[in-house]
Amino acid sequence: MSQGKPETTIGLCGQCRWMRKMESDRGSVFYLCQRSATDPTFPKYPRLPVLHCRGYELEESTHFGDSK
Ligand code: SF4
Repeated sequence: MSQGKPETTIGLCGQCRWMRKMESDRGSVFYLCQRSATDPTFPKYPRLPVLHCRGYELEESTHFGDSK
């Protein structure tokens, strides 16, 4: 029914550390670029899919070589 992986349709934002997924009360999903808060050259709600972005940074969900 619903598409299971929206990350594949929104492009780079889907795995970018600056992306924040928002959901409205009516179930609509928005993707907010948090870079826009500090840099107005980034759109608050980028047009998807984003294929190229100078601000893209891979979200680090796994930690390699965690130094303690
Ligand atoms: S910095 Fe670029 S890739 Fe990252 S969330 Fe914003 S628009 Fe998307």
